[in-house]
Amino acid sequence: MPDNPEKEIAQRRSQILKALSAAAGDRPMALVAVSKRQSPERIDAALSAGHRLFGENRVQEAIEHWSDRRGQYRGVELHLIGPLQTNKAEEAVALFDMIETLDRPKLARALRKAMDKLGREVPCLIQVNTGEEEQKAGVSPDGLDDLLVLARSECGIRVDGLMCIPPVGEPAGPHFALLKKLASERGLPVVSMGMSGDYELAARLGATHVRVGSALFGTRQA
Ligand SMILES: *Cc1c(COP(=O)(O)O)cnc(C)c1O
Repeated sequence: MPDNPEKEIAQRRSQILKALSAAAGDRPMALVAVSKRQSPERIDAALSAGHRLFGENRVQEAIEHWSDRRGQYRGVELHLIGPLQTNKAEEAVALFDMIETLDRPKLARALRKAMDKLGREVPCLIQVNTGEEEQKAGVSPDGLDDLLVLARSECGIRVDGLMCIPPVGEPAGPHFALLKKLASERGLPVVSMGMSGDYELAARLGATHVRVGSALFGTRQA
């Protein structure tokens, strides 16, 4: 990133927003700016450009990035897009406005408990492991309905939609199409898919939210 992150990030942001509205037609598209492992200067640059919706994949880092900035900038909205351990549920509920990575009954129960304790309801997305990868977070498509019922009926969690991260090295299109289909069949309005390399494709295939990091902020710190 050159010496003027402010201008650079504002330019990239408007290019991405333009590409998204071209790809999505008339549908509204939300750009979740993924600020994980980005410098304070770059995060502030995005805020100066008027951006307010951000994604983080670790609770601790999100607290570092956002606990002060939330007070400084009006209207900041934060999504958790990384795996959540049950022992961090309370911190996550306290900080985030949406949790995109609900993927197991134990986590749904921990979130319910945390929401009761804090008196704060946080809407969730269910993460679907569309590639059915061994090591990957997310519920398998076959397990989606059971988890959806458990989260809603047993835990009273507001589930707004679905999220996926396609397998690395595979064309993303079929995974995006599958996630969109799973959401539509269940009347779930929110579909979070697409990252820096494929957000336009995701938008064309029905995403309502894309999660873009490096294409907006530049290369992440190690
Ligand atoms: C890091 C991350 C992104 C953004 O990745 P880029 O390729 O930098 O856009 C999106 N989604 C999730 C879940 C991530 O962890």
